[in-house]
Amino acid sequence: MNIHEYQGKQILKQYGVKVPEGRVAFSVDEAVKAAEELGTQVVVVKAQIHAGGRGKAGGVKVAKNLDEVRTYANEILGKVLVTHQTGPEGKEVKRLLIEQGCDIKKEYYVGVVVDRATNRVVMMASEEGGTEIEEVAAHTPEKIFKEVIDPVTGLLPFQARRLAFAINIPAELVNKAASFMMSLYQAFVDKDCSIAEINPLVVTGDGEVMALDAKLNFDSNALYRHSDVVELRDLEEEDEKEIQASKYDLSYIALDGNIGCMVNGAGLAMATMDIIKFYGGDPANFLDVGGGATEEKVTEAFKIILSDPKVKGIFINIFGGIMKCDIIASGVVAAAKQVSLDKPLVVRLEGTNVELGKQILKDSGLDIVAADSMADGAEKIVALVK
Ligand code: ADP
Ligand code: MG
Repeated sequence: MNIHEYQGKQILKQYGVKVPEGRVAFSVDEAVKAAEELGTQVVVVKAQIHAGGRGKAGGVKVAKNLDEVRTYANEILGKVLVTHQTGPEGKEVKRLLIEQGCDIKKEYYVGVVVDRATNRVVMMASEEGGTEIEEVAAHTPEKIFKEVIDPVTGLLPFQARRLAFAINIPAELVNKAASFMMSLYQAFVDKDCSIAEINPLVVTGDGEVMALDAKLNFDSNALYRHSDVVELRDLEEEDEKEIQASKYDLSYIALDGNIGCMVNGAGLAMATMDIIKFYGGDPANFLDVGGGATEEKVTEAFKIILSDPKVKGIFINIFGGIMKCDIIASGVVAAAKQVSLDKPLVVRLEGTNVELGKQILKDSGLDIVAADSMADGAEKIVALVK
């Protein structure tokens, strides 16, 4: 789960990470009022969307007086920001962070991630702050330093200092930077984060070490023990179809293509997407209905796929192991009755109760193209949507 920058900063502040003072605003008037309350010479007007790269896209503006705050708030609120993380359709800005302007001396990068290669939490840091870390990793990987953290001891002070020295934090500020890193790590662990990224961390003119940006992602499997974090969820930032799917415990990810996929098992779902691509098509989603899906769940899954206007055809690929083919068939028939199915539908069923499943589909009178194998099904649906 993702949260906004201003929310991330509030959490980090509780752990002793220094952040500029700021207020959230939902309207232009609120933005001006927030700037008045902050009372600093310079304030920064920042678009709050669940994506980075806002600065480059015009979503971060420095205002030198209240008139400028009004102008920028007006300009950014309601604007659709297109950044390298939003996709081409962009994201509409509905909230702003009005924040004290900060006297930046230099920008750095610090991030905490779970590293699959070492099975450990890793803290990364770089002197190349403010820019995309992916760019730094691609062109100057020697400028990224890492500390692998032992879960028993946590991040040790010497590791934090080593990172601070490696990225050339001025010597007199190394202790401040190290304690910043220790606090960041503590927040990451306590809140069950999957990512905690500060880009940029800055050293200021008056010798402070601060987080100017904050990106916190949370492990959704651990959300049950963080009701405070769950409260921060902003459903407007999430895909409507994914929200609906999560209500029914379906693993659904929306994609850009036009072939809706209904599959059971994550591995089979991946393989199905691959084979669609292989035949020159593009999947509209990843969907794993799971092993123990009920007819109701299958119906819901089918409706979610159909609610996507991009979907031009559907491929159902089921291997009946725990999941029985007749359950899938009944779900598809029930859903097709509730919503009018006017798109090509290719079905490949295999496994437990396959004959019964095929009979249910046949008796339904639905216009279904049967497939003998995965490859056959993929080839057929790709041809039908073209
Ligand atoms: P994004 O990563 O989405 O572009 P950031 O929060 O990192 O957004 O802001 C982009 C840039 O704007 C920062 O690298 C920094 O140079 C500047 N900036 C952000 N917040 C402030 C602030 N409070 N004071 C001064 N400059 C800021
Ligand atoms: Mg940033």
